[in-house]
Amino acid sequence: MSNYQVTAIPALKDNYFWCLHQDNNALLIDPGDATPCIEMLKKNQLTLNAVWITHHHQDHIGGITDLAQQYKRPVYGPNDDRISGIDHYLKQGDSVSWQSHQFSVVHCPGHTNSHVIFWNPTQRHLFCGDILFSAGCGRVMEGEAADLFHSLQWIASLPQDTKIFCAHEYTEANLGFALHLEPDNHALQQRRHQVKELRAKFQATIPTYLELELATNPFLRSHLPGIRQKLDEMAGHHHIADALKKFQLNTEDEYYFAVMRLWKNIYV
Ligand code: ZN
Ligand code: FE
Repeated sequence: MSNYQVTAIPALKDNYFWCLHQDNNALLIDPGDATPCIEMLKKNQLTLNAVWITHHHQDHIGGITDLAQQYKRPVYGPNDDRISGIDHYLKQGDSVSWQSHQFSVVHCPGHTNSHVIFWNPTQRHLFCGDILFSAGCGRVMEGEAADLFHSLQWIASLPQDTKIFCAHEYTEANLGFALHLEPDNHALQQRRHQVKELRAKFQATIPTYLELELATNPFLRSHLPGIRQKLDEMAGHHHIADALKKFQLNTEDEYYFAVMRLWKNIYV
């Protein structure tokens, strides 16, 4: 099977909208603004076939209306009344295809309740919206920290060579927190060096690979004793302790993950 290319459309403050294209056909994932998408499609003489949406936040759906008006192509996304313009609702276990490429729809709550992500097991491509970022993860905007933990654990179970297309360029800031937790992590130090060089040239640090994230992303590493020791020291901080009470946490793994997520919220 011939393959598609993936092009990032950098837009808004720090978003990446993802454009998959093969021959003259294109698919857009999370177009938060139609203008840069239309520009990209025109410049490359691409025909838009469909739009896929991961979650209801404006920076992921802002382009739906204008794109639908201009191209009249179907929009796929979660069944959530906070998103208007969805023609085909997606749920856990669904399969969506584009140009003979099959993607699994995986419900990944935690950042928002109805968030879905797109997994292509043949190409080992994951379009994960705001669930995982390089060296970080999305905020718990609604629902439970435990949901986000389990969503990230699902991602962590994928093949190590999975290429991960995150929706934001947050890597450099995330690495500061990651290194605070693991100052002696050699892979992290290397990643920071590499990311500094890329960002100095205004280049993207995304996509990333699961193998790299497993070695450097603290939100996939909250089981490690060295990290847990630091989390124990922070768990009593009044902001964290208060917020922890609002979460339903059933296991030690969920608890440590929640402490980390809450700490990151106040880390500067
Ligand atoms: Zn979001
Ligand atoms: Fe976002």
